[in-house]
Amino acid sequence: MKTIGLLGGMSWESTANYYAAINRGIQQQLGGLHSAKIVMVSVDFAEVERLQSAACWSEAGQLLARAAQQVEAAGAECLLICTNTMHKVAEQVEQAIRIPLLHIAHATGQILTAQNITRIGLLGTRFTMEQDFYRERLERQFGITVSIPEQTERDAVHRIIYEELCLGNVRERSRSTYLRIIEHLAERGAQGVILGCTEIAMLVTPQHTHVPLFDTAAIHAQAAVEFALQRDE
Ligand code: GLU
Repeated sequence: MKTIGLLGGMSWESTANYYAAINRGIQQQLGGLHSAKIVMVSVDFAEVERLQSAACWSEAGQLLARAAQQVEAAGAECLLICTNTMHKVAEQVEQAIRIPLLHIAHATGQILTAQNITRIGLLGTRFTMEQDFYRERLERQFGITVSIPEQTERDAVHRIIYEELCLGNVRERSRSTYLRIIEHLAERGAQGVILGCTEIAMLVTPQHTHVPLFDTAAIHAQAAVEFALQRDE
């Protein structure tokens, strides 16, 4: 089994779920007392968030690149950046390491394609919803049309992520807000909705809506499990 590298802490609430999901995935595949081989570096999210909101992306990229090098030096054979938003600097991180980076949008695009989804809604931070780095990968590499919520809806989605979910607060009122926005994306033609922020599945799950949901944290964790169990040729 290969060793999985996690770059976590963004936020630690979702990294804890990655850790559990990867271990569960390995246990399901191998049975018995098997668990995943993981090394992790977990950053201080306050530092990252400060750089995000000041649009200091290159500095944020340097911070993550250094952390990724620590993950590699600790023996990881692949790297997962455990957040959608920070894939904004994925290339900068990738250039700093020799091990493969498993890209969260790529893993998600593969799942959507396998399910013949061509029109999808996207929820995430303002950065993920509004900037090109995430949507373009789905549109260019997989030919999937991505729609995002309207401005006031995006403001609510973003605020709830940073002010509630990253702090571990799950509120009924926020769930209703998200469900309304998911419904609206479906009414506008989306065949499903990407939970494009690794904390959103803490708030909404398939039991809450008839609209198909694609939880990027779970998809990313599953990609790591598959990587770890791949046989070398
Ligand atoms: N975990 C979130 C994401 O998947 C947001 C936190 C961050 O800005 O990294 O985008």
